[in-house]
Amino acid sequence: ALILGLESSCDETAAALITSDRDVLSHKLAGQEAAHAPYGGVVPEIAARAHVEILGPLIEAAFAESGKTLADVDAIAATAGPGLIGGVMVGLVTAKALALASAKPLVAVNHLEGHALSPRLADASLEFPYLLLLVSGGHCQLLLVEGVGRYRRLATTIDDAAGEAFDKTAKLLGLGFPGGPAVERAAAKGDPQSVKLPRPLLGSREPHFSFAGLKSAVLRARDAGTHSAQDIAASFQQAVVDCLTDRTRGALEQAAEATALVVAGGVAANQAVRGNLEALAAEAGLRFVAPPLWLCTDNAAMIGWAGAERYAAGLTDPLDIAARARWPLDANAEKVRGAGV
Ligand code: ATP
Ligand code: MG
Ligand code: FE
Repeated sequence: ALILGLESSCDETAAALITSDRDVLSHKLAGQEAAHAPYGGVVPEIAARAHVEILGPLIEAAFAESGKTLADVDAIAATAGPGLIGGVMVGLVTAKALALASAKPLVAVNHLEGHALSPRLADASLEFPYLLLLVSGGHCQLLLVEGVGRYRRLATTIDDAAGEAFDKTAKLLGLGFPGGPAVERAAAKGDPQSVKLPRPLLGSREPHFSFAGLKSAVLRARDAGTHSAQDIAASFQQAVVDCLTDRTRGALEQAAEATALVVAGGVAANQAVRGNLEALAAEAGLRFVAPPLWLCTDNAAMIGWAGAERYAAGLTDPLDIAARARWPLDANAEKVRGAGV
């Protein structure tokens, strides 16, 4: 089947054409970094307006590059949440209009399911169930991925998401926006052992994450003025990696049925994060799967792929389905301590 995927939940506008055989015929992406940089973070109203302007031309470009037309498409998939509601609505309404005009089915995709299934787009041999560390700008969760639409959440963050911690640290250290790649670049020039930073919840029985204390410690280290931004960035990154690895090690014990350890989401683009999780998987005798970097951060190929998986399972949606600012991936989300969804 041929799927058109649309993504507009944050500050990336994207459109992709992808087949259920994992053929990415085209993927187009427009970031909005320059528009948001002066504010040091994503401004929802600016993002929504930018999506309105860019999405149409991007869809046309995606079709042009693929050599396909709307008539060739079997289903139209778009992010329906969670995210900045104005942006989500732009993509979802566009998908509904295309679905209506072409009489093709709509697939409303949870953005987190896009991240969660992206490793299966990258690696055709990745089977369910797998243990997923989902680390992105708004989320930090450990999930047992049992199948399409079947997610068991083992852990979440009780305060900040991992990507949020990178972004805030970058802001505190004046490294620029978006923060993750900036911190990684600075960290490469620093000593990860130089600044003593906390490892919140390390070794605790509960598998959850916490990054707010780490951020405060970064602020204190900066104000002490005794270390370079590179050293603080390197020490911060090491602390995050230690926490992610420790919590994931704990979750592996609860997920004996997992066939692989998998990481996805924007922070999965970080080489230190990838390297340490790969080592953990080797230690546990499990295979390790991480999508290529372009598939870690927001993109429409992963939304198209989640759409392909859902379409194959017969999971299409009515045209009156609503956009959702919040949309936990697992059905039992409310039962897990802490907000973080
Ligand atoms: P969510 O998916 O939770 O709704 P989002 O879509 O905004 O949030 P993603 O696009 O998946 O998040 O990821 C963006 C986040 O990833 C940002 O916080 C960014 O700083 C972080 N990030 C990107 N590249 C890197 C990197 N190389 N190292 C660390 N963090 C990174
Ligand atoms: Mg972004
Ligand atoms: Fe995302």
